[in-house]
Amino acid sequence: MDDGGGIRMTTVVAIDGPAGSGKSSVSRAAARELGFDYLDTGAAYRALAWRCIEQGIDTHGPRDVIESLDSFEYSIGIDPDRYFVRVGSEDVTEDIREPRVSAIVSRVARIPEVRSYLVELFRSIIASSSRPGIIVEGRDITTVVAPDAEVRILLTATEEARMGRRSAEIAGVSAEKTAQELSSRDAQDSQVVDFMNAADGVTTVDSTDLDFDQTVLAVVNLVRTQAG
Ligand code: C5P
Repeated sequence: MDDGGGIRMTTVVAIDGPAGSGKSSVSRAAARELGFDYLDTGAAYRALAWRCIEQGIDTHGPRDVIESLDSFEYSIGIDPDRYFVRVGSEDVTEDIREPRVSAIVSRVARIPEVRSYLVELFRSIIASSSRPGIIVEGRDITTVVAPDAEVRILLTATEEARMGRRSAEIAGVSAEKTAQELSSRDAQDSQVVDFMNAADGVTTVDSTDLDFDQTVLAVVNLVRTQAG
């Protein structure tokens, strides 16, 4: 980040990728390894969707969702060892992962006013980091939120590998249902942002044939060489 005097204070690492690519857990582990902060941007879209459900806000049209932004009190932990997500004083870290939230989050995320509101929020959170660096992961980080980040990565894996990993994570939900949810969310999300193809200057890390530790290492090595 720029301190206004042109000096880079915090290295920004931008990571994009589809659902189930392992972005969140890989980014968090890499941040831990590097002594960096970690910002999960999908959590904010999820928290907003969760609040719409809880408050009975109609998400079929943009108007009520946009109005609800005025009173959206959101906070997130960016220390990789102290991750939490709160709406007002309520801890929603677990609740925002529920299938009922995943089912409507894309509808909320496609509203341009929601996106510009959250992009500004993400930029201010990035600017507040006091560590040597911050890893920011999502769908539009390399292209919209932090296009001038020092390190920009697209984390991919074949659809088959992503579905397999995600269904292993969600206990009690059938693999078929998980696969359906994931591909329908990707299809909706990719109408709004292209996170399947690397933009200019973005390095692709394909984790299909890598295990978790190897993927974390690939990211850490890229950061060390590109931000060094
Ligand atoms: O990353 P995660 O799967 O938790 O993201 C949840 C949803 O938030 C995505 O399906 C997408 O609709 C939205 N999202 C987004 N832009 C981001 C991060 C997430 O539109 N940078």
